[in-house]
Amino acid sequence: MPPEADPNTHRSDADRALLERARGLAGERAARSLRLSGAAALWLRAGDDPALMVLARPGDPVLDRFDGTVADGGDGLRLLVGGTTPGNAAALRAELPNLRPVPLGLATSAGFGDRLGLATPGHALALERTGAAGMVAPVFAQQSIREMTRTRRAPQEVVDDATWGAFAAGWRLPVGADADHQKTADDVRACLAAGFTLFTVDPGEHVDDAAERADAAELRARLERLPWRELEDDWEGLKRRLLGAPLDLGDRELAISEEELTRAAVKYGAAIAHTLSLYRVLAASGAPFELELSVDETAYPTTLPEHAYVAAELRRLGVAVVSLAPRFVGRFEKGVDFRPDATGDLATLAATLEGHTAIARSMGPYKLSLHSGSDKFSVYPLIAAATGGLVHLKTAGTSYLEALRVAAVHAPDLFRQVLAIGHERFEVDRKSYLIGARLEAVPRPGDLRDADLPGLLDDDGARQVLHVTFGSALDAVGAELKRLLRERDAAHEEGLARHFARHLEPFVPYAAQPPRPG
Ligand SMILES: [Zn+2]
Repeated sequence: MPPEADPNTHRSDADRALLERARGLAGERAARSLRLSGAAALWLRAGDDPALMVLARPGDPVLDRFDGTVADGGDGLRLLVGGTTPGNAAALRAELPNLRPVPLGLATSAGFGDRLGLATPGHALALERTGAAGMVAPVFAQQSIREMTRTRRAPQEVVDDATWGAFAAGWRLPVGADADHQKTADDVRACLAAGFTLFTVDPGEHVDDAAERADAAELRARLERLPWRELEDDWEGLKRRLLGAPLDLGDRELAISEEELTRAAVKYGAAIAHTLSLYRVLAASGAPFELELSVDETAYPTTLPEHAYVAAELRRLGVAVVSLAPRFVGRFEKGVDFRPDATGDLATLAATLEGHTAIARSMGPYKLSLHSGSDKFSVYPLIAAATGGLVHLKTAGTSYLEALRVAAVHAPDLFRQVLAIGHERFEVDRKSYLIGARLEAVPRPGDLRDADLPGLLDDDGARQVLHVTFGSALDAVGAELKRLLRERDAAHEEGLARHFARHLEPFVPYAAQPPRPG
């Protein structure tokens, strides 16, 4: 990892002695988390009983900033042992400001959704090994409201778990935090209070998919029902702005027909109004934030005229977006690679990615955001090249599957329980996810020898069944799974690092440098 200044340089003899003492106390595995703040050393005691450790001279005010018990630390020093509590997480972010999430701007970035709150060290390791650290800006804290509900995690826990994970990994660069798939003003307020800085607004419930097929009379009726007052607009004004001349997209022009504009406005008009209302909640908060607009979970691919309409409207209304997630052509199912369908194959995708990029560059600029981005290995080279690095990659469930891989190898009985729950719950839990798996093709726990269990994590059908039933599995055996991952933290990190290297490598040659802390 690109280090901050070597903590050993420009230090007094007394500081060097304190660091040496801290290294000795921390031990080899925890020493990577060791950071100096003022004249104090901080690290995370790893393993199954994690704790915040602070070594300082007697009377150092840092000892008052954390909750914990203070005892003799040897060499005339004091040692504080504190819990990984919300209060200590907040104090740690104040002490080590790079751990406090910030807006990441247009830097190439990647989101690492982590349902268990234990995957950040593995994600950090993947960034370091691929040379992506310092190139691809990480969003370690990222969870949708849907997933917070299913994992019973509060927004603050999501942010705090990522704080502890980044601290454990010795992460010294900026981090973002993505409140994903925000649907209501209440979602936004709860996540603002927790310190999220990227707000992914999902106005999908306000997207009118009927626009795709409606006839002229029906379109006309729906057009009249749009919330024109909230949009501060009317149909004549919209036509004047977007139909007068082809749009100049830099490397190309885009001419929009009246019918295309009508369908675009009917499909996305109310969604724009809803996005505007959430943007106003964010802007009124005074907190630093950036906004992503996601329409990836809608019924039909986003066409170029539709994207251009959305971009133009956002700009007219003063809604600055840092990234936008269209619904791309083809199938982006959870936890498996891209699949072609009637809407397009990889070649169609590559061509439309260039068009979407031209819009994002010339009408933003903002990044294209790739949702359901886990395991889309055939798409990464295409989107990295098409966007030239003006891209955000969003992953989530694939990290949970790597956690299950640890169970499949080291705790076969636990894994069999998770698989049995997957069979029981799949048909209910799959709702609201895009999934192609057929349950009957997935082996049952009794059909498999222990040695065959890890192989299920490489089977598309089994991956999807396990992927969508996480909430039910965690309700039943979440505590056991987390205990296992703490005991086997090295195996867990190694698996994540290997898996995420494949996600990150294609982006590194195109990655734009993220802003450095001042
Ligand atoms: Zn999404």
